[in-house]
Amino acid sequence: MLGPPAVARPRVPVLLPVALDQTYDYVVPAGLEIEPGDFVVVPFGPQTRIGLVWDQPVGDQGKPVDEKKLKAIIERMDVPGLPATSLRFAEWVARYTLAPLGMVVRMMMSAQAAFEPAKPRLGVARVEGAAEPPRMTPARKRALDIAADGLIRAKSALASEAACSTGVIDGLIEAGCLVEVVIPERRFPRPDPTHATVTFTEAQQEAVETLSAAVEAGTFSVSLLDGVTGSGKTEVYFEAVARTLEQGRQALIMLPEIALTSQFMDRFKARFGAAPAEWHSALSGPERGRVWRAAATGEARVIAGARSALFLPYTDLGLIVVDEEHDPGFKQEDRVHYQGRDMSVVRAHLGGAAVVLASATPSIESHVNARTGRYRHLILPGRYTGVDLPEITAIDLRTSPPEKGHWLSPVLVEAMAETMAKRQQTLLFLNRRGYAPLTLCRSCGHRIECPQCTAWLVEHRFRNRLNCHHCGFSMPLPSKCPKCGETDSLVACGPGVERIDEEVRERFPEARIALLSSDLIPSLTEMRDIIKRIEGNEIDIIIGTQIVAKGHHFPDLSIVGVIDGDLGLAQGADPRAAERTFQLLHQVTGRAGRALAKGAGYIQTHMPEHPVMDAIVRGDREAFIEREIRTRQLAMLPPFGRLASLIVSARLKDVAEGVARDIARRAPAAPRIEVLGPAEAPISVIRGRYRWRLLLKAPRELDIQAYLRAWLAEIPEIKGDLRLTVDIDPYSFM
Ligand code: ADP
Ligand code: ZN
Repeated sequence: MLGPPAVARPRVPVLLPVALDQTYDYVVPAGLEIEPGDFVVVPFGPQTRIGLVWDQPVGDQGKPVDEKKLKAIIERMDVPGLPATSLRFAEWVARYTLAPLGMVVRMMMSAQAAFEPAKPRLGVARVEGAAEPPRMTPARKRALDIAADGLIRAKSALASEAACSTGVIDGLIEAGCLVEVVIPERRFPRPDPTHATVTFTEAQQEAVETLSAAVEAGTFSVSLLDGVTGSGKTEVYFEAVARTLEQGRQALIMLPEIALTSQFMDRFKARFGAAPAEWHSALSGPERGRVWRAAATGEARVIAGARSALFLPYTDLGLIVVDEEHDPGFKQEDRVHYQGRDMSVVRAHLGGAAVVLASATPSIESHVNARTGRYRHLILPGRYTGVDLPEITAIDLRTSPPEKGHWLSPVLVEAMAETMAKRQQTLLFLNRRGYAPLTLCRSCGHRIECPQCTAWLVEHRFRNRLNCHHCGFSMPLPSKCPKCGETDSLVACGPGVERIDEEVRERFPEARIALLSSDLIPSLTEMRDIIKRIEGNEIDIIIGTQIVAKGHHFPDLSIVGVIDGDLGLAQGADPRAAERTFQLLHQVTGRAGRALAKGAGYIQTHMPEHPVMDAIVRGDREAFIEREIRTRQLAMLPPFGRLASLIVSARLKDVAEGVARDIARRAPAAPRIEVLGPAEAPISVIRGRYRWRLLLKAPRELDIQAYLRAWLAEIPEIKGDLRLTVDIDPYSFM
């Protein structure tokens, strides 16, 4: 007798957030409803892990697994599932970047608290009609008076408001005057599209109408919103956000991390009556969880965030704004190497959303896309206030050099003195942290290098240490030369911002100075604080690295001095060096004179005749773009050609070199693909690892990922201490 036919148990493919490119099948236990996009707990090896249910098997499934050996899902997590768009997006990013799909999904899950049961927080509230406590002290009275409004407060908050210890609060609970209650979770308020509307200029209105139509169409489109700083780009894209809210869809505003200041949040709030949800690296764990869930339930209507905000689980994303779209900070350089701006276009394509790329100095890539008609080009001419762009002067350091041991040319010093006299602000910009980039022994010529990297140690005088900017190595400033032992022979060479600070204090002892450098500012909150003081004209001279270049609006800032205009041009191997220098110089000098009066920019340079300097001084952006596009076209550089870099690293130099050469030898022959290298990387050792680079160059229409996949399938396994990093469209060439 045959038994009843075996009924295959229902199974689903599950993707785990690990460095694997495939799903595993799991059995769905009876009674459990499972859908694609659900988060589930599954046994994985000896552990249990959270996985994501996929809608089809991914990767090489090998031989079919015996029914009986299949493991079962343990439970479905109580979190909103991901929509199909998120799954498609993850697949797209993985395919494009060659990162394992599991690692992309891991980015999408980067809010651990969202997957943990919410811990209810307890607070205290006044018990209505309770009698006075038996012993009434002044502290008790203060606390009860504050709690009289009936609001629920955290115990510590009430204690600090009443200037007493939490012991006093505990006493009041014991006496039955206060009671512990669960604090309801904070909700994300709804931004109101009609809260405070703006009357637009004619040019702005045209852009507003185009963007509104793009959003209302509910389909994919990309618009490049191109206008000088102060032309009203933010006001204009806020209208696109308003339309999105009216459509009932979500909006994402991506900003360079450092631009996520309270200035931006306050402006958003003024326009919409409520702040957006924020997403950036400074959020606490629970806050990340809260934002993640709110994106997934649709409670958060607008999210303002850094690049990783693109991977939040939006239910229905209708608009993505990428502000400062040219900013290199949108490129992620570790684990999954992706360009946030480019991936935002992919995300919008998959989800039928509109993209707005905003910048005063759009990337060459976006300019080319606008010229070929792939993107709409919306131009806002001039500043809203009508104030002209600053007059830019190149200070030729060959003819007006600073005094010995100083870094500010007399021309710049004089301009600063005049500005001080007018009670206006000066910004000095130098993109170099620390006091001096090099410490040299006068006696034997020894240069102090990092023991783990091919890089000089940078003196940080405030902390009295030498630091490596590549690996974080740090040592106290030595009193004698580590090589020859001579005392008092070490000299600091070249300037960092701390040294500029020193010179400014010497020259302007009465000035109120703020030094802004990422290593000196412990948190975003503190940064926001300093920015507020600058806005309030409590500071005369601001000295900073590139963190001052972005996103801030300082009404009393009238001149900007760039200490070393040539700094960015020295990056020889980087095809975007000229573009980036142009953008940075334009952006930082553009901070001058935004509100009332025309400002001035001074750029110290050894090569005023360089095309970048020339274009900046003449204010001729178009000439620069023309020239840059032609250069890229001739050299087949992005966006006319594709690049990918392979970096092989190992503890032993011979191993890194040998493997790099071996990989190069195995490159499949392809007539139109060039494989350059391997060559020792410009920074040949980082953290004690030797680094060798290969660079791939291919025409735009070629599928560089397919080529790489075929190639990498042929190389011996990368194991042990070896590491191979693949970076599609690299932005770093060090
Ligand atoms: P951008 O983003 O291009 O730098 P903003 O949107 O920040 O420009 O505009 C610069 C300043 O001008 C802001 O203070 C903004 O509020 C103001 N502004 C721009 N357009 C208008 C307008 N149509 N009505 C009122 N204020 C405007
Ligand atoms: Zn180092």
